[in-house]
Amino acid sequence: MINVPKGTKDVLPSDSYKWQYVEGVAREQAKLYNFKEIRTPVFEHTELFLRGVGDTTDIVTKEMYTFKDKGDRSITLKPEGTAGVARSFVENGMAGGALPAKMYYIIPAFRYERPQAGRLREFHQFGVEVFGASGAETDAEVISLADSLLKKLGVQVRLYINSIGCPTCRKAYNEALKAYFAPHLDNLCYDCKTRYEKNPLRLLDCKEEECKKINAGAPSILDHLCPDCKAHFEKLKAYLKEAGIDYEINDRIVRGLDYYTRTVFEFVSTAIGAQGTVCGGGRYDGLIAQLGGGNVPGVGFAVGIERLLMLIEKNGDTIVEEKPTVYFVGMDEDCRKKAFSLCTALRAQGVWAEVDHMTRSVKAQFKYADKIGAKYVAVLGGNELEKGEVSVKAMATGETQSVAFAALNAFFQDK
Ligand code: ATP
Ligand code: MG
Repeated sequence: MINVPKGTKDVLPSDSYKWQYVEGVAREQAKLYNFKEIRTPVFEHTELFLRGVGDTTDIVTKEMYTFKDKGDRSITLKPEGTAGVARSFVENGMAGGALPAKMYYIIPAFRYERPQAGRLREFHQFGVEVFGASGAETDAEVISLADSLLKKLGVQVRLYINSIGCPTCRKAYNEALKAYFAPHLDNLCYDCKTRYEKNPLRLLDCKEEECKKINAGAPSILDHLCPDCKAHFEKLKAYLKEAGIDYEINDRIVRGLDYYTRTVFEFVSTAIGAQGTVCGGGRYDGLIAQLGGGNVPGVGFAVGIERLLMLIEKNGDTIVEEKPTVYFVGMDEDCRKKAFSLCTALRAQGVWAEVDHMTRSVKAQFKYADKIGAKYVAVLGGNELEKGEVSVKAMATGETQSVAFAALNAFFQDK
């Protein structure tokens, strides 16, 4: 037997309705906020992620699925959604179109990680990006979209926000961080020693317990914001407050990707253990320029769909699977043939109908109808065939009535 690769999962037919529900709600919310879907390739040139995610991030240093294709190009399966969307924005000259460009995606993402609950090698994200708008009201808008999605799905999360400033204020902050961490260098993990040299801000993102303890005493970025960044953060808070979106400030949040500027945020649950962050996002005003697209600001987030489903499951079975409207039982071959054609006609009229495929006994057909949860069972025997009608049983009440072939469509519409 061949198994699925480590860290990947099938979404089975018995579970896919949950995915369809969550994706449906996500698409609906995106539409209400006037975002349009963008679809970009599953793989990109590796260079895109080196530049667009950043070469000091965990993703780039440890987690990418990178390989050479038969043309000797370095290709990477996308580890996240933003870089591909940003590439497409630049490549398709969207800066010359209507701005802001508001886009969403639902994608598989690939990261070579140690698999555990809520951490897979292939996982899925719903994400949004807004390019072209620099104000805090746009940060508030993407936060509001994530918030409304999570509320609609009934999951309990807490919103944490922070500002990591701009390159100007971060310069002074990085110095302050280095000064703080210098005496602790020996106690930091191997990765953090590199982070100390290359990107001190990233030190705050470490998940090692020892490093986290040291991080707790580090200076706060919020004491180092320049006046513009401070004003931006104040405006964001005011917009969130006015819209009734609860938040907490957490100055340890820096997010994993480079090129984030100013606003960063996470929606975190305590219900699913260590992998509690279901949504992460922020502003990345430097990203489009980094990809050669000029000075275009951007802000967005990504939600992990597996983690979202874990949270929904914690709440009990809140997603209800839809069931077929009618199952046709045919008593003999002539009846089965007629059942098939009635079923086909109903389907053409938009009625969800099913018919036996296994030449089962009548009793077994009823059993099967029950198993698939059909709301009605339509029985067709020699008698019915002669009269041109079926005997329709409502499974919920047991009530039975005869319905003429010609009246079946009218009977089942809206059922
Ligand atoms: P973490 O700190 O948990 O590693 P991250 O900062 O790497 O998360 P992002 O890059 O911000 O995560 O991705 C956005 C969201 O995608 C996360 O909040 C999470 O819900 C989900 N996610 C990220 N990595 C994985 C994974 N390996 N398996 C499942 N979901 C994931
Ligand atoms: Mg990660």
